[in-house]
Amino acid sequence: MTRPWSLTCSACSATRNADGLPDVCPDCGAPWLVRYDAAPAPALKDEIARRPWTMWRYREWMPLEDGEDPVTLGEGGTPLLPAPVLGHQLAMRDLWIKDESVNPTGSFKARGLSAAVTRAKLAGVKAFTVPTAGNAGVALSAYGRRAGVPVHVFAPASTPATILAQIRVFGAHLELLDGHIGDCGKAARAYAAEHGAFDVSTLREPYRIEGKKTLGLEVAEQLGWTLPDAVIYPTGGGTGLIGMWIAFRRLLESGWVDGTMPKLFSVQSTGCAPVVEAFERGADRTEPWQDPWTVASGLRVPSPLGGAIILKALNETGARAVAVSDDALKAAERRMAESEAIDASPEGGATLAALEILLEDGDIGHGDRVVLFNTGAGWLYRP
Ligand SMILES: *Cc1c(COP(=O)(O)O)cnc(C)c1O
Repeated sequence: MTRPWSLTCSACSATRNADGLPDVCPDCGAPWLVRYDAAPAPALKDEIARRPWTMWRYREWMPLEDGEDPVTLGEGGTPLLPAPVLGHQLAMRDLWIKDESVNPTGSFKARGLSAAVTRAKLAGVKAFTVPTAGNAGVALSAYGRRAGVPVHVFAPASTPATILAQIRVFGAHLELLDGHIGDCGKAARAYAAEHGAFDVSTLREPYRIEGKKTLGLEVAEQLGWTLPDAVIYPTGGGTGLIGMWIAFRRLLESGWVDGTMPKLFSVQSTGCAPVVEAFERGADRTEPWQDPWTVASGLRVPSPLGGAIILKALNETGARAVAVSDDALKAAERRMAESEAIDASPEGGATLAALEILLEDGDIGHGDRVVLFNTGAGWLYRP
């Protein structure tokens, strides 16, 4: 079957069709990215405006053909909230927080897994596996259940207890390992090879990015089809950053929005900052981070498969990566709750801690329109 999209390798010149259950490029091991035959026409805006507020309102932008139904729990359509109290404190006029904590399963992982599970189900998948720092495991457990496909999750034993309990609620098989997500990744790949399960690790299949792309589409629509000057994104595997980079570029190229490309800033914890380290060295790929540790479990990704793509997005948008300490991101998490009543995850808190550094260094101006991403719910991390 010919689909209106194909896959292109993010590193070499390989291409392939979108049939079956694609993993990484067989020639070079880099992630595949989806390439559509054509971008939807801007005239579609009016029709989109009448659809329900889930990420599938952008279905013409997504890997879905006419007549195909997504596996959905109503993900997306999250509020883009003004942050007047923080804005006042920081002398900023145009500060926003995209609150992804209200997604099904409590984090923005819902977007990526809804898209990935949808395509895999349509391709006839028999079982799923995933290595996770927590939230991807919860989301896969929920969407796998929704699709009626069994799920096997590998997570570090140090994953917050509430997240582990959520994974169990949806009936997934949960295996806890002493180690970090990289160790879980090896176990998941071995499990997939042995049991014929499909491994939906970050960027090992091409469709989680497509779900995350809707972060960019949604922010643009919520700002009246305009783009912000800058976004700050807490970066682990980088799917949201890469997804928004692709979305903003396509919106500009295809005439859906005017203006210039937003700066896409990346924040990590000083306890695991491979992207910051590589960016500051001027490198075009990340090196594995030794002994990674941070309470922001979504940022504990010592060797992101998409490191090279993340660095390209930072460089091409004129942004940078900053590291903040766990103390700073926890304090900022509390501040988001106290000032704006947003129950931020530690990762969401990190974006506020980074904003203060970027303001001080002059990378972000006090008049800029800036969007912080609270990627998950604070309650998931509490016992
Ligand atoms: C997974 C996760 C992140 C990191 O997202 P990536 O797409 O892997 O960069 C940030 N915050 C939360 C709450 C997460 O669950």
